[in-house]
Amino acid sequence: MFKKILIANRGEIALRIQRACREMGIRAVVVYSEADRDAKYVKLADESVCIGPAASTLSYLNMPGIIAAAEVTDAEAIHPGYGFLSENANFAERVEKSGFAFIGPTPESIRLMGDKVSAKDAMVKAGVPTVPGVPGALPEDSKEVIRIAREVGYPVIIKASGGGGGRGMRVVHTEAALLTAVQTTRAEAGAAFGNPAVYLEKFLENPRHIEIQVLADTHGNAVWLGERDCSMQRRHQKIIEEAPAPGIPRKVIEKVGERCAAACKKIGYRGAGTFEFLFENGEFYFIEMNTRVQVEHPVTELVTGIDIVQQQIRIAAGEKLSFTQKQVPVRGHSIECRINAEDPYTFMPSPGRISMWHPPGGPGVRVDSHAYTNYFVPPNYDSMIGKVIVHADTRDQALARMRSALSETLVEGISTNIPLHRELMADAAFIEGGTSIHYLEGWMERRNKAR
Ligand code: ADP
Repeated sequence: MFKKILIANRGEIALRIQRACREMGIRAVVVYSEADRDAKYVKLADESVCIGPAASTLSYLNMPGIIAAAEVTDAEAIHPGYGFLSENANFAERVEKSGFAFIGPTPESIRLMGDKVSAKDAMVKAGVPTVPGVPGALPEDSKEVIRIAREVGYPVIIKASGGGGGRGMRVVHTEAALLTAVQTTRAEAGAAFGNPAVYLEKFLENPRHIEIQVLADTHGNAVWLGERDCSMQRRHQKIIEEAPAPGIPRKVIEKVGERCAAACKKIGYRGAGTFEFLFENGEFYFIEMNTRVQVEHPVTELVTGIDIVQQQIRIAAGEKLSFTQKQVPVRGHSIECRINAEDPYTFMPSPGRISMWHPPGGPGVRVDSHAYTNYFVPPNYDSMIGKVIVHADTRDQALARMRSALSETLVEGISTNIPLHRELMADAAFIEGGTSIHYLEGWMERRNKAR
């Protein structure tokens, strides 16, 4: 096992990885930007290295700086967390070429999954259900594009092969709008992602977002750790996640989960990963694979009892998975609310000093957060300041537990979205379960009209 790991990230996930290291007897080095100098998790780390000014391009995205920090501290492995460099194949390659272990998949897997056309193609070959469409990137020939769209059937969605973060997509409802949409998406994708290739698939009107967590070792073993329902989203950003997904028969989930584990073996995947699906009318449709730990991994940890971050580290160190698929339990129900420093009505970021931070506690309540009283939320990074996660025997009990936890989560000095979470936990449709990815935006429109 490694003796020392460098954490190339910030905020709650830097703290989360640090906790995994501490439990495993591994020393943790954190890198930080000048804006994060006073963060408590930096002080709690065994060692810390300032790698640059606040701007991410000069700090958390600064590859030579991060690798130099690993060299001077004698770290053996680098954990990239999520966001920043976590899905950058060039970074993974540089880490490995510099003699460190990358706690994540191989650069080849990251590259395969980072390109949506090649990812979809690999999934089709591995028997994972995908959104109906035509394989490969769209050709230049306009007549051919029109034929393909007719074959798939309107509405269709044009997606950039190199796209990400909800960018580089366009929905097309009629043939009249098709060619302009294809051209615009190509031009935007070329400028934004350096890759003008686009593809076309069926646009699903009212899906849920369901994802499957996987773990694969370097000895040919792969397991899936149940699913998460992450349908509560605003502008493609998830805000509430839960496991298991309400109302979907276990048999249906098992079928897709097994396909995901088999796909990992087929593509030689290593580490933790997530297969994201849209789910509509009882069917799963693959949209993308994330080749890293997800923000919402704790809900899976609470229902399975498996520490995903520790598993990532064990796999990177070459260990075999110590359990089989049959030994993966799914017990009870877990819900996570992402706490963001933002106005709960306008969603404007609300950075600044937290004058009082009082996290919830009690049985079945977990808080993953780097915040504390007097912590200054820097304006330079995303607005998430923590996650409140609950676990209970049933979904109803988990909802009651979350309501109770939110009622005692007190944050003063900045605005947060806690009031939004409190309202949603009392919303009849959410309580019933199974709302679609468009539910929250419709709900907000109705709420704003009523105000
Ligand atoms: P990104 O990498 O940008 O997150 P995804 O492929 O994961 O892109 O898609 C992001 C979101 O776009 C999905 O969560 C869903 O809301 C929407 N979307 C993508 N593909 C489709 C589709 N075929 N039909 C309907 N919505 C889609």
